Amino acid sequence: MSVPISNQRPPFDTARWDELRQRFAAWAPSTFADGGFPTREMDALRTEGLLGVTLPGAPLDQRHGHTPAQLRLLKEVGQANLSVGRIYEGHVNALQLIGIYGTETQRTRWFADARAGHLFGVWNTQMADGISFHPDPDGRVKVTGSKSFCSGSVRVTRPLITGNLQGGWQMAVVPLDDHPVRVDESFWNPAGMRNSVSYKIDFTGITLEAADLLGGPNDYNRQPYFSGGAIRFAAVQLGGGAALLEATRDYLREVGRTEDPYQRTRVGQMAIYLESGHLWLERAGQLADQGGDPAHIVHYANMTRTAIAGYCEACLELAQRCVGARGLLHPHPLARLQADLTMYLRQPAPDAVLEAVGQYHLNDPAAH
Ligand SMILES: Cc1cc2nc3c(=O)[nH]c(=O)nc-3n(C[C@H](O)[C@H](O)[C@H](O)COP(=O)(O)OP(=O)(O)OC[C@H]3O[C@@H](n4cnc5c(N)ncnc54)[C@H](O)[C@@H]3O)c2cc1C
Repeated sequence: MSVPISNQRPPFDTARWDELRQRFAAWAPSTFADGGFPTREMDALRTEGLLGVTLPGAPLDQRHGHTPAQLRLLKEVGQANLSVGRIYEGHVNALQLIGIYGTETQRTRWFADARAGHLFGVWNTQMADGISFHPDPDGRVKVTGSKSFCSGSVRVTRPLITGNLQGGWQMAVVPLDDHPVRVDESFWNPAGMRNSVSYKIDFTGITLEAADLLGGPNDYNRQPYFSGGAIRFAAVQLGGGAALLEATRDYLREVGRTEDPYQRTRVGQMAIYLESGHLWLERAGQLADQGGDPAHIVHYANMTRTAIAGYCEACLELAQRCVGARGLLHPHPLARLQADLTMYLRQPAPDAVLEAVGQYHLNDPAAH
């Protein structure tokens, strides 16, 4: 009998991972109630070597692809805790961008930082008061402006930020432990994902070295990496959906409602959505590793993120119908998972992405 793809695990010691997940589950109520940075969980990922798992020589060495396994790992972390998944995804993303656009010296420096336990992130989102880089005659760069939704906040000691440099969209990796910044926690009062501590941060007044700038103008937006990267957050989202299915099943068992045909059909539908999401991720990961036409990779990533967001939304509704009001009272795990997943499903420009899928299909002579 073939095993559903959703039962495949990342290439790690399964027993150790299961033990880690149990610890995350035990911490989840207090982490959620506390609302702050998930210190214990991120420390555990660090201790398990997962902050360096995509670096050269590590099990998921990004130079050799491994994207399907990386997506499975992101899904597992998201399933264990969605806010941790969000922060971890930013870390993996930043290391990938450094791998692609960094000079040899920069790769050596920042990969050593990651091995030493520094947390990375990617902070691109901003409001009207966004980032500008102003070159000094001495080659250094003054920074003005703020980023919003800075997941991990100042616990991310190596954030990759983007900003306007003489008309281009420039990346820089900020050694944040060397620079005082103003953190606006009042920006982040969300219904869910509170533990991602996605505050607004004002970088005005800091000066970066030329060596802190990563890549050239507009490299950040280069395809397929920019839009194609959406498969990573989709993997984390799917982890949230998987956690929801688990919690729904546990609840129905607990209250003795597993024999009811309506409950069974709803859970069956959720399981189908989850398996479908895994199949999308697996294929999207394979395509990303194969390379080829960037437009096709982006198209597939656009379809993948749209499909998975839809599956997760459907799972949210089905889970609610299964458990009713009782299962949605805090501190029940379902209440927490519903809040986190509802918030984390909000990712940029969903309508434009679906429209692009349709446009690609209409324009592609090979489509049928
Ligand atoms: C928990 C969490 C953590 C995050 N962490 C980070 C982080 O670490 N780094 C980072 O850079 N960002 C982060 N973000 C921000 C994230 O990447 C998105 O920018 C943000 O979630 C956008 O969500 P939105 O629903 O407001 O998107 P929008 O794109 O504003 O979409 C909202 C609605 O507006 C529509 N819409 C969009 N553009 C237009 C338009 N021009 N005209 C008309 N309609 C439009 C959309 O189709 C949709 O219906 C985070 C977000 C969350 C929720």
